[in-house]
Amino acid sequence: MGGHQHAGLTVAFDADDTLWHNEDLFQAVQREYEDLLAPWADADGVAECLHEVQMSNLPRFGYGVKSFTLSMIEAAVQISGGSIDADRTIAIIGYGKRILDRPVELIDGVEEVLDALADHRLMVITKGDVHHQLAKVAASGLAERFWQVEVVADKDTATYGGLLERHRIDPARFVMVGNSLRSDVLPVLELGGSAVHVPYHTTWRHEDDHDGHHVEVPTLETLRELPDLLGTWSADRGLGPDMAHPA
Ligand SMILES: [Mg+2]
Repeated sequence: MGGHQHAGLTVAFDADDTLWHNEDLFQAVQREYEDLLAPWADADGVAECLHEVQMSNLPRFGYGVKSFTLSMIEAAVQISGGSIDADRTIAIIGYGKRILDRPVELIDGVEEVLDALADHRLMVITKGDVHHQLAKVAASGLAERFWQVEVVADKDTATYGGLLERHRIDPARFVMVGNSLRSDVLPVLELGGSAVHVPYHTTWRHEDDHDGHHVEVPTLETLRELPDLLGTWSADRGLGPDMAHPA
C-alpha cells in the first residue's frame, strides 16, 4: 500500500462456518463416535467426557481436526476403561481423516458477497491446523480475492491486536465477520473494531461459551445481507465509493 492507509474498510472473514461448512460434519462424526462407544456409555456421557478431554487438551494441541482426533482417542480410552480395541481406534482415526478429506463446500452466496465487497480489503482470519486451513483456502477457489490470509493459534484480543498492528489496520476501519461471538465478535469489539455476527445453524459448544457477555452487534441471517450493511457503514464514516479507491 506504499505506506499510506487504505481508504476503505478492511473486512476480515472467519472461515469455518462463515465461508464454508464445517461444524455440521464435526457433529455428524461425533454422533457416530457416540454410537461406537455405546457399549460403555450413553451418548450424553460420551459427549461430556469428550468435551472435557478436548478442553484439557486445547492448551497443548490447539484447535483443529488433529487435536479433535487425539481427544476422541483419549476420551475413548477413558470411557471404555482401557478396553477400546484396535478396530475401534482405527475407526476413530478414520473419523478425523473423513473431516480432513471433506471437499470445501462454500456457504450459499459467498462468492457474490466477496464480489460485491471487492472495493474493500478482504482478509481471512481463521484458527486451527495451519496445513488444513491453508488447504481449504486453496481448495475454495477464493484465495485470490483476499488481501491477506491469516491462520492463527487462537482468536483472542492479543492475537487480533497483533494482526491489526502488523498490517497497520486502523481498528476504526476494521470489520470482522464470523459465526462465533467468542472468537469473531467479542475480541474485535474490545479492540475498538466492528464485528458482524452471522450465526451458522449449529455451533460448537466451546464457541458458544462466551461468559454470557451481552453484546450489541449486528446479526445477519445470511452473509448475503453483508454488502448492504457495510455500504451503510461506509457512507456513515465518510468512506464513499470514490474514497474506496485511493489514488
Ligand atoms: Mg467459524
